[in-house]
Amino acid sequence: MPSGPGMNEGVQPGVKREQDGPAVATDDAPWSVSPDAVAASAGVDVENGLTDEEADERRRRTGPNDLRRRKPRSAWSLFVAQFRSLVVALLIGAAVVAFAFGENLEAWAIVTVIAINAALGFITELRAVRSMEALFALSRVTARVLRGGGTREIDAVELVPGDVVVLAGGDLVPADMRLITASKLQADESSLTGESMPVGKSIDPVDAGSALAERSSMLYKGTSVTRGSGVAVVTQTGMRTELGRITELVAEAVEERTPLEVRLDALGRKLIWVTLGIAALVSGAGILRGKDLFLMIETGIALAVASIPEGLPIVATIALARGVRIMARRNALINRLSSVETLGAAGVICTDKTGTLTENRMTVVRLAVAGKDVRLDEEEGFETEIAGDLTSAVRSALEVGALCNNATRAEDGETSGDPLEVALHAAAAGFGIKQGDLLTDCERVDEEAFDADVKMMATVHRCGDRYRYAVKGAPEAVLEACGYEQTDEAASPLDESRRAAWEEKNEALAAGGLRVLALAEKYSDSREDAPYEGLVMLGLVGMADPPRSDVRPSIERCKSAGIQVVMVTGDQPVTALGIGREVGLVDEGEDLVVRGNELPAMDSATDEQKARLLRVPIFARVTPAQKLDLIALHQGGGHVVAMTGDGVNDAPALQKADIGIAMGRRGTQVAREAADMVLQDDAFSTIVAAVEQGRIIFGNIRRFVLYLLSCNVSEVMVVAAATLVGGPLPLLPLQILFLNLVTDIFPALALGVGAGDPAVMKRKPRAANEPVLLRRHWLVIAFYGVLMTASVLGALFVALNVLHLPAEEAVTLSFLTLAFAQLLHVFNMRSKDSSTWKNEVVQNPFVWGAIVLCTGLLLGAVYVPDLAEVLSVHRPDAMGWLTVAGFSLIPLVVGQVVLILGGNTAVE
Ligand code: ADP
Ligand code: MG
Repeated sequence: MPSGPGMNEGVQPGVKREQDGPAVATDDAPWSVSPDAVAASAGVDVENGLTDEEADERRRRTGPNDLRRRKPRSAWSLFVAQFRSLVVALLIGAAVVAFAFGENLEAWAIVTVIAINAALGFITELRAVRSMEALFALSRVTARVLRGGGTREIDAVELVPGDVVVLAGGDLVPADMRLITASKLQADESSLTGESMPVGKSIDPVDAGSALAERSSMLYKGTSVTRGSGVAVVTQTGMRTELGRITELVAEAVEERTPLEVRLDALGRKLIWVTLGIAALVSGAGILRGKDLFLMIETGIALAVASIPEGLPIVATIALARGVRIMARRNALINRLSSVETLGAAGVICTDKTGTLTENRMTVVRLAVAGKDVRLDEEEGFETEIAGDLTSAVRSALEVGALCNNATRAEDGETSGDPLEVALHAAAAGFGIKQGDLLTDCERVDEEAFDADVKMMATVHRCGDRYRYAVKGAPEAVLEACGYEQTDEAASPLDESRRAAWEEKNEALAAGGLRVLALAEKYSDSREDAPYEGLVMLGLVGMADPPRSDVRPSIERCKSAGIQVVMVTGDQPVTALGIGREVGLVDEGEDLVVRGNELPAMDSATDEQKARLLRVPIFARVTPAQKLDLIALHQGGGHVVAMTGDGVNDAPALQKADIGIAMGRRGTQVAREAADMVLQDDAFSTIVAAVEQGRIIFGNIRRFVLYLLSCNVSEVMVVAAATLVGGPLPLLPLQILFLNLVTDIFPALALGVGAGDPAVMKRKPRAANEPVLLRRHWLVIAFYGVLMTASVLGALFVALNVLHLPAEEAVTLSFLTLAFAQLLHVFNMRSKDSSTWKNEVVQNPFVWGAIVLCTGLLLGAVYVPDLAEVLSVHRPDAMGWLTVAGFSLIPLVVGQVVLILGGNTAVE
């Protein structure tokens, strides 16, 4: 997040600043004056844009174009937050009690514990928050601006008033601006005006007093361009935009709490009451038995601290943040933290075909015109395959392919743009038909942009005193719009049998997995004709778009992971099926394609229909609106649904899906903003990798929750058991705090960031609303709690009755036994089918780091005199250590034996 000296200057909402020198546009009503007047008052030459120096200079005055809604959380606020917890309150209470009883050493020790606890929490959380902020910054919006005579893509934050911005359908409007050119421009302004239909935009001035919704010559920050294209001069940026004025200045990012964190919090709160009860019971019983009052109060407080799993949400945050980082490295940018856990539960992935399953590197390999079928093989050169000169139909078809085309050729000869259009461009060029020459003769005057609902696009060209309409699109859509066909001699009417012939040709081309597009044209005296009427059918082109090589194995992985993959494409059934076969989505012989328009309305569909549709692997000719029905269908089937999308019209589907996935390369800004995740490489395999990571993270979280809770439970049980039977306290208050706030944390953290179990993608997805801990897990926690308690009490018994140690020294052995038993217990957290020696816990380097660190801390507690005094630890002799070693191994050994025998005590 950029900050700088200019950041806080002059960006108060609604405050207009007086300027000298070249004015920053502060026209009262730029919508009411002409484009030229706006440009003049903005001090910009619209042919060249601002210079970089001028832009820098203006930014110093206006500040960044930023609503500052995501101001980073300050380190200070994070630090303060560490002290706002029940645990700290309890600890402070304990310190006060200790001071009151004159136990100063004890009191200072507790103060130290508070400090250590806060420092640990602060450092880890700061790291997590900062890395998350860095990741969110990756998905920032950019803008195409004219600067110093050239068009450039810059970070939208850097826009200043006077910048000349180029916009097209699918873009988010990055600032308030006045249009200076507009073609078929429409904007979705629902975020500002509440108007849900897109509104038309033009450059004509409107009345100065117009309401915001009527200012058709303006575009506003926070809205989006749904179609058309235009150029506009920025009039206001940042907090001075209309959006900025209504956005409350939020000083700090509102913390996003994921459902998981909320659930963990709730879990902790539930436990609090249970264990506070136990703590009160234990202290009460102790006091009644005539134990030292101060000792029992401190024990009660320590137990309460021990039983509050306050580490849970923070370790969860760390685990999530780390997962997000790993996903980013694998090209999946997460927009919302909560999607990470949703990803792990994904049961259905609805994926695009073009560019996601396929390479999106197209080449025209076939061209069919009336009565002629031309094979175009790039390898052998285009011309060789075609005898003699081009027939008029072939020539017209290639020309239309080059004209109705937005791909552009840069100076270095590279053609860039939609791969489908690049392919058409190349095919025409292969026959010596140059787009540039065509456009010199027939200047382009209009465009009807491609629309995924209409599945066609048209351009209008002025050729002398006539207009040539060039159209391309999906074969059935174009055929529908045609009244004639081009034969070698002339245009002749298209009768039913000829239509059928074209359809047959289309099927034949598509059957090979080729993407088929129809080309058509017409001439007219008017520029305003309906573009999709009375066209002359020229021909069909077949384009090869090879499947990505990594798709097949990814689909296999989904199958073994119990995830259903559904292809949802705008392309036609036959092509879709061809690709589906190639990538292993459908088996040979299987024939399961449903067209989007065959989808029944979900609320009227019968259960039988739904059951059938739930198994369909391919949906073809699906419009963006039908994607919503598909999502409803699968969500109704109880699944967590992921859906990909790229266009403006896909935004609703991306929002409705449990996981909306936008394409980073070919996706529009609108789609990227609506999505939960953005694929930087557009690849299907990246989705699968992200799902795997989501599962790993959830598994890790479950693992450390299980671990921490079984440790906490053992501490409470040990003290409760001893007190209730009237034995000496096996753990002293400060020892409980030491275990709980120092040594438990590290193994838990290590489990939280584990690399995961290689078998995660061999299991079925978990249910969408599955809690972190199932009933079975509670039993597992109780099981390990009892096991550790038994070991500790066993060690205490041996110390007292076999080694005949005095009670103060015996307590050291029970304390150390519990400490090491907990450390070793981390190896019980492996998954069910893993091997004892080679599993994700043993292979996790962080686990070993945590063990070394904690062992060091425990040895310090024994051998550093001051620390030993505070913790009331006495140095054990060899027999003492042997006792500790023997008893602390029991939970590990028993746990492993149970696992080997197939006992259901594992995390899964
Ligand atoms: P897909 O799922 O394959 O990405 P789209 O929804 O993008 O499908 O496109 C649907 C259909 O629209 C395509 O099969 C094609 O026939 C047609 N089409 C796609 N892009 C263009 C374009 N730029 N111009 C004209 N028609 C197009
Ligand atoms: Mg597409």
